[in-house]
Amino acid sequence: MNTAELAEWMVGLGEPKWRGRQMAEAIYRQRIVEVEGITTLSKALRQKLDVEGWQVGRPRIAQVFTSVDGTERYLVQGQGVDGLTVETVWMPEGDGGESGDGSEDDEGKADPSAAPAARASLRRATICVSSQVGCAVNCQFCLTAKLGLQRNLSVGEIAGQVVAVLDRHGVEVGRERVNLVFMGMGEPFLNYENFMGAVRLLVEEVGLSPQRMTVSTSGIVPGIERFAEEPPEIRPKLAISLNAPNDEVRSAVMPINRKWPIEAVVDAVRGVRLRTRERITFEYVLLGGVTDRPEHATEVARLVRRTGLPAKVNLIAWNPGPGIAFAMPEPGAVEAFRRALSAEGVPAYLRRPRGRDIYAACGQLKRTVEG
Ligand code: SAH
Ligand code: SF4
Repeated sequence: MNTAELAEWMVGLGEPKWRGRQMAEAIYRQRIVEVEGITTLSKALRQKLDVEGWQVGRPRIAQVFTSVDGTERYLVQGQGVDGLTVETVWMPEGDGGESGDGSEDDEGKADPSAAPAARASLRRATICVSSQVGCAVNCQFCLTAKLGLQRNLSVGEIAGQVVAVLDRHGVEVGRERVNLVFMGMGEPFLNYENFMGAVRLLVEEVGLSPQRMTVSTSGIVPGIERFAEEPPEIRPKLAISLNAPNDEVRSAVMPINRKWPIEAVVDAVRGVRLRTRERITFEYVLLGGVTDRPEHATEVARLVRRTGLPAKVNLIAWNPGPGIAFAMPEPGAVEAFRRALSAEGVPAYLRRPRGRDIYAACGQLKRTVEG
């Protein structure tokens, strides 16, 4: 519930409308989890809420897997009666994918003379958020696809993942920078309403910056068209999972491409009005022998240049998963690919694999309870 909805609820209880604002302050800014602890409310009201059984709904982190690189993968208990869980990932130093996306113009300038506490506050963590339980899109290289779509997550379940992780790490919103990537389980643009509802809660109520949020889509054209209509003040940045140099290869590894081929996706992306210095990210998973050849790099560079969009490419070495018959790129192939793109004038960055040892890396999320 946002402030307006909380206010409506309060009015229904015979309280003044401004109680909604107090409630929102307590739940989203101060992140108070017990009704009893919301001391801005009168004692009588708190008791009434308690007697009526109201609670602050928070997804629970049911299990934590910790990687040698500091990445944490969480099994988060949803709020449905089905008891389904999703996965959320915390990367203490980001994933490298933020480089060059315009979000860090003011970063990396930590004053070396600052007190240690002040410097520590400049951590640049990234939280990777899920939007659905499983996924219906069926990309051939992705472990989440193996689950199929089990259900959509609610607004509260999507935003709640973030709040649960902020709490766990004691993050002070406003003082510390946190990046959000909607790149966990699921296709956000196939759960559009709830995904954008969660973004609005996180921006308007929790206080996170949309300029530090990125949503990734496999190229759901109607979703991109709706996204283009969103006001820039609450719109995350956009990343497109390109993953192949042309339609032929893309259709083979991402069957969704037969419905919305590359040109249709690019056309829809052209409708998004970009903020100053904002760029579109094209994600590109390197599948050994399939999409990682030097000639593919040339093709990708031409494709990206032809779009005419201010863009950058994020390269991701394929992360293996059980039952998926692809190969990792040869050592050196990813860096060679990056250099080839750069040489063609297309800025390209490597996304470091984070938490591979705990199955937390891109495309490895599958509600696994094994470490
Ligand atoms: N469904 C959305 C967002 C989640 S996937 C999408 O597909 O864009 C986030 C990124 O991980 C996508 O770019 C996807 O192509 C990539 N990915 C999927 N499986 C992968 C794997 N096994 N190794 C590396 N990247 C993978
Ligand atoms: Fe779904 Fe994204 Fe995985 Fe494709 S890569 S199956 S769209 S989660």
